Amino acid sequence: MFPKVTLELPAWVSEIMEPGRIYETQKLRMELAIKLASENIRHQTGGPFGAAIFEIETGKLIAPGVNIVVPGKCSVAHAEAVAIMIAEQVIGSFDLGSGTPLELVTSSQPCIQCFGMTHWSGVRRLVIGATGEDVENLTGFDEGPLPQDWKKALANRDPLPPCEVITGVLQHESCLVLQEYKDGGGLIYNAGSTKPAK
Ligand SMILES: [Zn+2]
Repeated sequence: MFPKVTLELPAWVSEIMEPGRIYETQKLRMELAIKLASENIRHQTGGPFGAAIFEIETGKLIAPGVNIVVPGKCSVAHAEAVAIMIAEQVIGSFDLGSGTPLELVTSSQPCIQCFGMTHWSGVRRLVIGATGEDVENLTGFDEGPLPQDWKKALANRDPLPPCEVITGVLQHESCLVLQEYKDGGGLIYNAGSTKPAK
C-alpha cells in the first residue's frame, strides 16, 4: 500500500480568520495574504508566503493558503497551491472558473508551478505583492523558469476566460516579510540545495 496524501492548514489559520468574511478593498485582501505569510514565519509552520482566494465582486473570503512545503513533506504545497486546493473543496469542484468570478491574491509572485496552477484553476484575476525578483534577491528561493510572457499568457488563455494580472499591491510590505524570514535564518528549501538563509 502506498501512503495517502493529506494537506492541512496550520491550526492558527482558523483561529485568526473565518470563512466568508468580507474584505472589501484590494488593500485589505493583500493585507490578509501578507498576514498569513508573516504569521507562518512566527508560528514556524512553513515558508514566508501567504495567499487567499476571494470573490472578486464582494470580497468574500473563500480560502486562505500558506506555504507548508517543509511540514507537509510536499514540494508543491506553496501558498497559492494550498489556497487553490482548499477553494476547490469549498466550491465543491475542480473548476473555479465557472461560477462567481474569483481572484487569487498572493503575497509574492507565483513560481512556475503556481503560474500553471493559476492557469488551470480558472480564477479570473491574480493579484501580486512582491515580484519574483524580490523573492529571489531577498531570500534565494528559486522561482523556476517562468515563460517571459507569463502575464500575457494568463490574459490570453483561449478557450479559457482571461485572467487579469495586477502587480505591485503592497509590494514593500510583502518584501518586509521576505526580509524578516531571511534575517531570522529561515530555511531556503530549494530541491537539492536546501540551506538556511544565513
Ligand atoms: Zn509556487
